Amino acid sequence: MVHLRWLSQTLGVRASTSPQEREAAGYIADQLISYGYQVEIQEFTVPIIQDIGMNLRVEGLESRTFTTATLLGSGRGEVTGPLTFVGLGREQDLPAEGLEGRIALIERGEITFRDKALNAHLSGAAGVVIFNNALGLTRGTLSGSLDILVVGVSRDDGEELLRLLNRGDVTVTLRVVREERTSQNVVATKDGGKGAVVILGAHYDSVPESPGANDNGSGTAVLLTLAQELAQMDLPIELRFIAFGAEELGLLGSSHYVSTLPENERNRVVAMLNFDALGSGGLRVGGDDLLVGQILTIADNLSISAFSTQEPSGASSDHAPFRAVDIPVAFFVGNEFSRIHTPNDGIEFVDPELLGQTATLGLETVASLVR
Ligand SMILES: [Zn+2]
Repeated sequence: MVHLRWLSQTLGVRASTSPQEREAAGYIADQLISYGYQVEIQEFTVPIIQDIGMNLRVEGLESRTFTTATLLGSGRGEVTGPLTFVGLGREQDLPAEGLEGRIALIERGEITFRDKALNAHLSGAAGVVIFNNALGLTRGTLSGSLDILVVGVSRDDGEELLRLLNRGDVTVTLRVVREERTSQNVVATKDGGKGAVVILGAHYDSVPESPGANDNGSGTAVLLTLAQELAQMDLPIELRFIAFGAEELGLLGSSHYVSTLPENERNRVVAMLNFDALGSGGLRVGGDDLLVGQILTIADNLSISAFSTQEPSGASSDHAPFRAVDIPVAFFVGNEFSRIHTPNDGIEFVDPELLGQTATLGLETVASLVR
C-alpha cells in the first residue's frame, strides 16, 4: 500500500511518455535496487502520430488555421495545394482530370477512410482532409500506413471550408509531424544464468486523466512486493521483474521488451506472470490453461478465492506480446473496472486485503514453478 499510495497519490497521473511516467520509473528502480537487484532502464521511442493540432492552414490574405486529427497510418510531412471537394471520395466522385498536386476535401461516410485516401492518392492528390458526418473531429485509422497525408476535421470546419471554396480558389497547407517521445521499462534481474527464467510484469503508466490506482498502481505494488519477498529466497531459477511503460498506448513497453529478447532467451522463459488492475471486486486468473489450473489449485490450498477468466475481447495487457511468441503466460486481474481510466480510479477503491492475497498467490505461484 505504501507503493500504491506513492504512485497514485504522491505522484498521481503517470501518462505514458510523460515526465511523471519517468519519475515513476525512477521510484520503481530505486526500490528494486534497494532489494539488491541489478536494474536496467530500457528506453524506447514512442512515435505519437494520432496527434491533434492546428495542422490545416488556409493560405492567402485571410490565412487561418483549423484543428485536425491525424488519422492513424497517415504519411508525414507538409504539403501545400489547391483544395478540391470530391464528395464522399468514391471513385465516381473524383474528377476525370485527376487531382494532381491537390488536397482532396472528402466527407465521411459510405466507404472506409482507407478507400477514400487511396482513391485520392491514386488520382494524384497530395493530401486528404476528411470532415465528419457527426459531432467532433474525424478520428480513426487507415488500417495500415499510406504514403499520403490524411487528416480529419469536424463537420463545422468541413462546411466552413466548403463555404470558402464556394467563394473561390482555396490553397491549404497540411502538416503531419510524427513526434518521437520516450518511455521506459524497468528491468530487474536476479541470478542471471543459463537456466529457466520466470518473468513477472506489471505496467506502471496510467491514462492521462487518471491517478491509476487500480490500473495499474495495484499491479506495480504487487510486483514490487514480490520482488522484495523473492529477493530473500535462494531459488534455482532466474527471476526478472519488469515494470512496463506505455502500456496504455498499446502494450508498447512489453512489445518492445519481447522484440529485444533473442530467440535463445525466449526459449528459456518458462512463464510470464502479469499483474494488472488488482484489488477490486475479486481476483481472477487467465492465460495458459495449464498455468491457470496450477494457480487456481494453489489458491485453493491457500483458501484464497480466485477464479479463472477469459480475456475480454478488445482489452489486453502486457502478457499478450509474450504469448504471441509462445511463452506460457498467466495474468492476474481484478473484477471491477467501472473506475478504470477515470479520475476516480483512486486508492480508496483498492482493497488492501485482496491486494495482499494477490501477492501471496503470486509468490506461491513462483515457488511452485521452481519446484
Ligand atoms: Zn492496465
